[in-house]
Amino acid sequence: MLTSTQIENATTEDLERLRVRIEAELEDRRGAKERDHESAVEVLESHETSAGTFQWQMRECGHKERCNKCKSGKRHGPYLYRFYYRDRKRHSEYTSLKKARALGLERPPVPRYGAVGSVASLSDFIHPSARSCT
Ligand SMILES: [Zn+2]
Repeated sequence: MLTSTQIENATTEDLERLRVRIEAELEDRRGAKERDHESAVEVLESHETSAGTFQWQMRECGHKERCNKCKSGKRHGPYLYRFYYRDRKRHSEYTSLKKARALGLERPPVPRYGAVGSVASLSDFIHPSARSCT
């Protein structure tokens, strides 16, 4: 750790550099905390726009005990969410597929199934136990 003497003897340039590094570290830690909290969410794609950040996410439905899909580690989606700041608070809002299409945000394929394009979303309709893979 830095002692107060080391800080007093450091040049302004050094301190500026240090501050940038500390802020980056704090930002990382805050992010890690948030990721832990939202472990039921998997972000597939992120799009920065003037209206906020749009993210395609795979989500757990919240019925892990009853849902075979979530139980087997698979998630539902991809769903599009918009994240934006208002009154210095972070808000999120579900965006319908129709609106997503209007925004030109193509629904990404469901991860891990290895199929291409929209074909991958067919796996949404196949019961997990019907699959012999993984
Ligand atoms: Zn589920």
